[in-house]
Amino acid sequence: MSAEIYLTFDDGPDPSWTPQILDVLAQARMHATFFAIGECAQREPALMRSIAAAGHAVGNHTYSHRHPWLMRSRAARAQVRDGAKALSEVLGREPAFFRPPHGRARPCMTDEARLQGERMVMWDRSAIDWGWFGTAPRIAERLARVQAGDIVLMHDGRNQHNRPDQLLQVLPDFLRELVRKGLRSTALPLHRPAA
Ligand SMILES: [Zn+2]
Repeated sequence: MSAEIYLTFDDGPDPSWTPQILDVLAQARMHATFFAIGECAQREPALMRSIAAAGHAVGNHTYSHRHPWLMRSRAARAQVRDGAKALSEVLGREPAFFRPPHGRARPCMTDEARLQGERMVMWDRSAIDWGWFGTAPRIAERLARVQAGDIVLMHDGRNQHNRPDQLLQVLPDFLRELVRKGLRSTALPLHRPAA
């Protein structure tokens, strides 16, 4: 019996990187949660459906990933609503989770997500798989600290500065290491897990 962790992948679906991440997860027989951007899901509906069909959970990461603080509240609410609508149209069901871009929990957006029945989920540990420090060795160092119960932030979409190419270099070994430590990743449960 292994303890659970919750890998999460933001900013996809991305035709270059998401399929490779899905393959790595499938080989390890693990599941994750994908916080998808609505307009990316509309561009890649088949890929979006293959994520859900593989048993991964899906969350709303807004329609176009605008920075939560850099828009009027009306536009901010629309980002949440339109993100959910895009995912529902592609998947045929509502996303169960919400995560704001850049982890900025603006009250009007979290309120809108709650009205849509989405549970807001942040993270306990970030792979920091972006920018200058998002190199494979540094990502591996950070992932080595993952513990039972952690929600882990990663990215499957480029969205400018993310580095899924670097993440993919270390992801298979990381998943093997999890097994060795008696951990495995599952999709986020619909209800908050007991701490
Ligand atoms: Zn994001």
